[in-house]
Amino acid sequence: MKAITEREAIKVITTHYIDGAFVESHGREVMNIIRPTDGQVIGSVTLADEEDTRRAIAAAKRAFATYGRSTTDERAQILRRLHAAASARRDDLTAAMVDEYGGVIQFAGLIVDSGISAFQAAEKALQEIPWRRSWDKTTVTLEPVGVAGLITAWNANALFLCLKIASAVAAGCTVVIKPSELSSMQTQVLVEALHEAKLPKGLLNVVTGLGNVVGAELVRNPDVAKISFTGSVAVGEQIMRDGAATMKRMTLELGGKSPTVLLDDAALDKAIPAALTMAFMNSGQACAAGTRLLVPMSRLDEVKRAILDTMRAFTVGDPADPNIAVGPMVSQKQYERVESYIRKGIEEGAEVLVGGEGRPEGLEAGYFVKPTVFVNVKNDMTIAQEEIFGPVLSVIAYDSEDEAIRIANDSKYGLHAAVLGTDIQRARRVASQLRAGRVVINGMTDDPQAPWGGFKYSGIGREYGRYGIEAFLEPKAILE
Ligand code: NAD
Repeated sequence: MKAITEREAIKVITTHYIDGAFVESHGREVMNIIRPTDGQVIGSVTLADEEDTRRAIAAAKRAFATYGRSTTDERAQILRRLHAAASARRDDLTAAMVDEYGGVIQFAGLIVDSGISAFQAAEKALQEIPWRRSWDKTTVTLEPVGVAGLITAWNANALFLCLKIASAVAAGCTVVIKPSELSSMQTQVLVEALHEAKLPKGLLNVVTGLGNVVGAELVRNPDVAKISFTGSVAVGEQIMRDGAATMKRMTLELGGKSPTVLLDDAALDKAIPAALTMAFMNSGQACAAGTRLLVPMSRLDEVKRAILDTMRAFTVGDPADPNIAVGPMVSQKQYERVESYIRKGIEEGAEVLVGGEGRPEGLEAGYFVKPTVFVNVKNDMTIAQEEIFGPVLSVIAYDSEDEAIRIANDSKYGLHAAVLGTDIQRARRVASQLRAGRVVINGMTDDPQAPWGGFKYSGIGREYGRYGIEAFLEPKAILE
């Protein structure tokens, strides 16, 4: 229990990264950094204000005058330098994610690795983009949109920051990043790492502060052309409204309530561990978490027994321990949110198969909740409709394949989905009918060249690969 018992030196962050240098904050508000495993203060961060934000935007605007005209070879070289710089601090980044966020080390390492590999993936995708096409007397080029404001959530900080930086830089944009204020320590480690890439001044700027201060300034500032946002639907809606005044381009990566459709020919020894992994990955604080498990009525009892057996592997505790699968929630607020949904599920008549209300035994100090599986859930219950963002799975029974597809699609969200089954043709047929930006067959998998993003309330636009780069580009035609 190293991360829980040993107090390390308090980390004090007072700078932002503007115009290629760490500069003291103009904003004076100081926020404590709380360790979620025990609620202890492990650091503090001085939050940026509008003035810090405007300085960062001005630096990015100056840098865009040159970087916006860079060649794809120059951008590829910068992506390689960013990759090398981030790789050098891989273990420090993972340790910060465990300490500050409470990410379980077995998953935090994967998150950091996929963040780092985003630079390589963008370099590859860069080669596939038709930057210039001509016919007759027409030439079409793809131009960087301008200064991009990148606003992120707290649940996979290194991944979001690297992914957004990689796509924007590949497109020729300069950036101002507003990371979640709950990820200040992780951001500091990443920015120290990326500083070593020796980028052109002003290409990368990072201002940590509150959403309604720094985020709002990015959204309303006329010198910011594009917002790429990862976060909640409520804030996404506000950003879209506020950004309209300056005609902002938008990529919005929002929430999910992803269905996992277990077909009646699924082999439960593989399918149930896969379903539970998708439900509880990143301690359930994952936008793509498969939080609705749709089960054929004919196999419900068998599935319940398999879940009870498999849940033994989903141990909750110290995230620094490699045997632990579920860590604490990021904050007291998030702890209360998850608990309130567990209570709501019980009130609405769902049955707790595993878990339930309250902290797990022996983990009273931190923001730990019990990984919870509800059965007898109807798809119109609150726990099946609203994003909980914690380790809570709803098992919903269905009678026919058509009904399973109907229930899966009966959601305001459409970010991610999964199909589990033995007959692969049938699994593909079901996958093709699910209204989601990504569907995985027989377990969680990733492809950094495949688009990532949502249908419906899960957002607008796509990230990853060439789709992610295209989101930072404008087509321009010259006709003779
Ligand atoms: P949030 O919406 O509260 O905050 C996200 C970011 O927006 C933070 O940096 C916050 O400071 C900022 N912000 C808040 N108000 C703002 C404003 N008025 N203007 C500009 N910026 C503002 O979300 P969260 O609690 O940090 O993250 C959890 C949410 O993120 C969940 O809904 C989850 O599904 C979603 N998420 C989506 C994806 C995806 O890829 N689709 C990935 C991870 C998380």
